[in-house]
Amino acid sequence: MKSLKSKILKEGIIKGNNVLKVDNFLNHQLDIEFLNDIGKEIKERFKDYKIDKILTIEASGIAIAAIASQYFGNIPVVFAKKVKSLNLDDSIYSSKVFSYTKNIEYDVMVSKRYINEKENILIIDDFLANGQAVLALIDIIEKAKANVVGISIVIEKSFQNGAKNIINKGYKLESLVKIKSLDGKVEFIE
Ligand code: 5GP
Repeated sequence: MKSLKSKILKEGIIKGNNVLKVDNFLNHQLDIEFLNDIGKEIKERFKDYKIDKILTIEASGIAIAAIASQYFGNIPVVFAKKVKSLNLDDSIYSSKVFSYTKNIEYDVMVSKRYINEKENILIIDDFLANGQAVLALIDIIEKAKANVVGISIVIEKSFQNGAKNIINKGYKLESLVKIKSLDGKVEFIE
């Protein structure tokens, strides 16, 4: 997605050599006009699939998923909640995530009320790094016996393992841009 590449080059800030901050339009301040273009592009990539619901993860996935939903006919958006620790509770699906950016493990959970057997679900998130967040969402969908239609990511950091892990497991992955390296400057995979 050409406009997203330009926006990252213009507004993105590299932290260390593997974290990209895009607070100016995606992770803190939201550029709604631009999010609409992202929503349209996600729809374009999944236009041939039947999708009943979008699943994302709080917090940054919510805005992207909510805007994208409008291009899929206003389908429901469910966001997994992040919690420090979970009591055993049979009314929720949960999975563990290890965050490399924050160096902590946390649980994510979704109420059983909001994912139903056989629903066709599209996962959306802002970044893909090692794939932990997406794999936890896949785990939750599979525990609910629903179908993972695919995964759409705004910014894939292809030099980390997430994309490889997800594709190797046979899931359809559509990343709007793929970053080859963040070593001093942003380099994209064309
Ligand atoms: P993963 O679970 O794939 O290792 O990491 C994905 C999650 O970590 C995303 O939901 C995102 O919130 C966060 N993340 C990973 N890498 C980056 C990055 O370079 N920049 C930002 N802003 N968030 C990141």
